Amino acid sequence: MICQELDRLLYPYLDGEFQPEERIDVETHLATCAACARRVEQERHVQQALRRAARHAVQSRRAPDSLRAGLQVGLRREQRRAHQLQWLRMSAAALVVACVGGGWVALRPEERQRFVEDAARRHAKSTRLPYEIANAAPERVEQWFHGKLEHRVPVPRLPNAQLSGARIFNLKDRDAAYISYETQPSKEGEAGRRIGVFVFGDAERQLDAKALPSVEVDSSDGYNVAVWRDGEIVYELVSDLDEADIRQMLLEKERSSRLANAPRPSEPLIPISPVSHVP
Ligand SMILES: [Zn+2]
Repeated sequence: MICQELDRLLYPYLDGEFQPEERIDVETHLATCAACARRVEQERHVQQALRRAARHAVQSRRAPDSLRAGLQVGLRREQRRAHQLQWLRMSAAALVVACVGGGWVALRPEERQRFVEDAARRHAKSTRLPYEIANAAPERVEQWFHGKLEHRVPVPRLPNAQLSGARIFNLKDRDAAYISYETQPSKEGEAGRRIGVFVFGDAERQLDAKALPSVEVDSSDGYNVAVWRDGEIVYELVSDLDEADIRQMLLEKERSSRLANAPRPSEPLIPISPVSHVP
């Protein structure tokens, strides 16, 4: 084998998924190539650390069943996907498993960035695609999506924006709901701005996203993309609005939905402050 082949062979080799003759081929190369041997060794350490973390999570009574199962599935999938990444990006720093108050979260910043890039690309493309449902209230759009996707599709009620239409739209390898809005112009003669919201399932928590009012805003292709999570659902809002305007809009949305869901109107509301990044 030659060094370049290691990209393809590294994970099957570490997972012991080789026939004996293939294994001998790799091991012969590793015996004579210090660079590849080092790479295999480093990767083995990362995997061992992950497995220890996973075992710890499985043994920990504090981790709920769904999280434990999700973490195990997620670990396998990450290992499968990892061979597509450049080695340098696969450093231990990029693949962090953090224990947060007994719950487990796999933090993959570069995975989120790939979803951000894809959302921006598809949002730009969406003007050329027809809606599958248009001129409908949010409730009607939610009904329309019901049963068409494996996850629920709560349609965000965005302040000062009108829902224009929706369709099913893949995002990376996942089926997603795509909901399009137009903002109400603040001044006369101004055009409304287009906003697209992708809603997709991420029960395995492969994406680093937090519940509102915490929101991450990244940019790609001239668009700002806000990412947040509601349980097993992840939202990506794509727009050419400024980051500050997007944050303000989501803050207002969150405030009004809290008001709507408040058990008693007389109860004092918890003040909301924007949180951009939780370490
Ligand atoms: Zn080599």
